[in-house]
Amino acid sequence: MQGVGIDDGTTKTHRNYVPEHGMRGPYWYTQSTVDRFKQQYGVYLLTHRSAHDRSAIVVYVGRGRIGERLNVHLNHKAALHFYCLTVADECDGFIEECRLYHQYGKRRHLFNRIHPPRPAGMTSLFPPCWELGCNGEP
Ligand SMILES: [Zn+2]
Repeated sequence: MQGVGIDDGTTKTHRNYVPEHGMRGPYWYTQSTVDRFKQQYGVYLLTHRSAHDRSAIVVYVGRGRIGERLNVHLNHKAALHFYCLTVADECDGFIEECRLYHQYGKRRHLFNRIHPPRPAGMTSLFPPCWELGCNGEP
C-alpha cells in the first residue's frame, strides 16, 4: 500500500456512501482535519460528490494509522471528504477494510488497485475475508 496513487486515470462508477454505526464523518479532507487523527488506527473512506446528484460517493477504502495514511493521499483531487472508524488492532482493521472494500465494489468501482492485504501474522483461524469465498481477487 506504500505510496499508492489512487487516481489511475480510468473512469469508475463509484457507489454511494451508506451511513453506518461507528463511522465518523464526513470531515473535510484538509491538512488540519487529517492531523486530528494522527496516531489513531483504523479504516477510512475517501468520498467525493456525485456529479449527478451531489450525494457522497466512495472513491477509495484504506486502513492504517489514519492521519498518516490520509496524508499520503492528500493531494488527490477526486476526494473531498473522508470518513473513518477506529479499530482495536490490525486484524479487526483487515476485516473491516475487506467488508468496506467489497461493499463499495472492489477495484471495479474504487480507485484501489489491490485487495486489502492480510496483516502479517494473522492466523488461519480468521476467515479469509469478510466475503465468504473471497480469495483476495480484485
Ligand atoms: Zn475479499
